[in-house]
Amino acid sequence: MQQLTCPVDQLLLVDSKTSGEESSECTTCEGVWLTTHALESLEDNAASDDMVKGQRQYGKQIVEHLCPHCGEAMIRFRYRGYNLEIEACPADAGFWLDKKEDSEIRDVMKQRGSNLNRSASAEKSWHRARRGTKLSLVQRVKQLFGFH
Ligand SMILES: [Zn+2]
Ligand SMILES: [Zn+2]
Repeated sequence: MQQLTCPVDQLLLVDSKTSGEESSECTTCEGVWLTTHALESLEDNAASDDMVKGQRQYGKQIVEHLCPHCGEAMIRFRYRGYNLEIEACPADAGFWLDKKEDSEIRDVMKQRGSNLNRSASAEKSWHRARRGTKLSLVQRVKQLFGFH
């Protein structure tokens, strides 16, 4: 099996599981590499229809990190319009998620939740978005990326 290295600190990645899918993790910076296949399986299992409806990639930007898979410069983008930036292999082999991106998304979600509580119409759409599901959006995103 190909030895993958962390795009941030160039250390070897170790096998890990993200919500039951095979992934590779850097034990130093705690970033996670997910193959495109694994991400798609996670979306099938964990993402809501609303989440999947959005475009997966936009606001693309080339970054200096090199892809663990092919060694080419990765492309940074916003995941499906959420304020969650992840990096992708230019050949679509997989995706890289920094640990710090997890805490950023949590802050954004927290803020978003309290803003929504202050606005009646937004609150309605918040409840509409939650209807039919036991999980909050925050929980879904966390579960999707295997963060606890
Ligand atoms: Zn690392
Ligand atoms: Zn690649």
